[in-house]
Amino acid sequence: MRNQQLDPTHIVTGMAVENNYYVDVVVHQDNYVSGDCGVTWHPDGGSDGYIGLATCRWVRDGDCQRHDVWYDSSWTSRRISDGPRDALACQEIGHTLGLTHRADDCMRRKIDPGGIQVTYYDDHSVRLINTNY
Ligand SMILES: [Zn+2]
Repeated sequence: MRNQQLDPTHIVTGMAVENNYYVDVVVHQDNYVSGDCGVTWHPDGGSDGYIGLATCRWVRDGDCQRHDVWYDSSWTSRRISDGPRDALACQEIGHTLGLTHRADDCMRRKIDPGGIQVTYYDDHSVRLINTNY
């Protein structure tokens, strides 16, 4: 178990190896094929399709109580540096915290492995996260 701050928000995170009632986000990584989770996944060598996905498994009183995050190994395993993987993780975890796509931080829709990797939440996203939690 680790406990870390989700910088620069107020959220304290921890990692559990056991899936129980208190786990808020379950992370999966595999080689997904189109149709898994109801979406079209990034094909090997292609440029379109999902490389990561955040879904809600359990809703109570209108709020998602448990999310799943899915990372496509066929994309993440080909990334040589941590930047693109960190950018993707930032975005998918951001979705579990209630953030939608926008242009200014890691919530930008496209992850460009050859471009600048945006691996942080800007002040706007931080304010939204801290307002929600
Ligand atoms: Zn997204």
